[in-house]
Amino acid sequence: MPARPLIDLHAHSTASDGTLGPADLVRAAADAGLDVVAITDHDTTAGWAAAVDALPTGLSLVRGAELSCRWQGAQPALPLHLLAYLFDPEHPELVAELARVRQAREARGERIVELLRADGIDVSWPEIMAAADGGTVGRPHIAAALIRAGLVATTTEAFGPQWLGQRYRLPKEDIDVFQAVALVRAAGGVPVFAHPRASRRGRIVPDSLIAELADAGLAGLEADHEDHTPAEAAHVRGLAADLGLLVTGSSDFHGSHKSVRLGAHTTAVGAYERIVAASSGVTGVASG
Ligand code: AMP
Ligand code: FE
Ligand code: FE
Ligand code: ZN
Repeated sequence: MPARPLIDLHAHSTASDGTLGPADLVRAAADAGLDVVAITDHDTTAGWAAAVDALPTGLSLVRGAELSCRWQGAQPALPLHLLAYLFDPEHPELVAELARVRQAREARGERIVELLRADGIDVSWPEIMAAADGGTVGRPHIAAALIRAGLVATTTEAFGPQWLGQRYRLPKEDIDVFQAVALVRAAGGVPVFAHPRASRRGRIVPDSLIAELADAGLAGLEADHEDHTPAEAAHVRGLAADLGLLVTGSSDFHGSHKSVRLGAHTTAVGAYERIVAASSGVTGVASG
């Protein structure tokens, strides 16, 4: 590994709502000059094997996932994302929770489509499921159907309040965030709170919750992320320093569903090494 490796610890493939398959994702990561990339699809490890098989020489892969969680301490419960790295993908309780969440996402997606159709908007659930091709379904897949139907021009527009951002938004059945942190640790993984301060995405959790999560086993906070302003990222770094948490930065690459490029934000090698050292579920994979 070079003295200042490029490390991007958050990227999606077609195993969830990214647009590159896992093999193309790791190739794109190498092309972007990354030394380490993490595959972190929503609520699934389905992309891991294909990413490992296609791993280009010189690139290291961190196997992970982004878990859909909620904090019950707000009214209504607040959705949030937990990155989980290097956990055992066969840990029974974690496997069961991920399966439950994926199934609930399908039921919710179908209900969103019913709401759209009731308003005369011609999108088809079977077509959306076919396009998702077995990957964890989310609103980006419905957004793509709205674009195909010529109803909106971009994913961003589809996430506006008239569409999936509010009017046709339904809550997900997520994992309680304290349970998720405990499960990830029990599976030998390392939990990192994704984009914790991204106020432009909606409501955010109070710092007091982050302190409680740190006590409960949270390992780190994602500070550098396109949904954080510089002030928000600085606040997250300060909080991490106060709580003894590690800090990551990542692109949260979604292929053409978003405009952000691989490596747009990166993680310092020290934080990466802390994640690897704290894990015991699966190892990092390096090729060549
Ligand atoms: P869901 O998991 O179904 O609630 O959908 C949330 C996902 O949609 C996130 O993981 C992002 O990938 C994507 N997303 C959220 N907001 C936007 C946005 N404004 N533009 C594009 N994609 C978004
Ligand atoms: Fe996503
Ligand atoms: Fe996220
Ligand atoms: Zn993500």
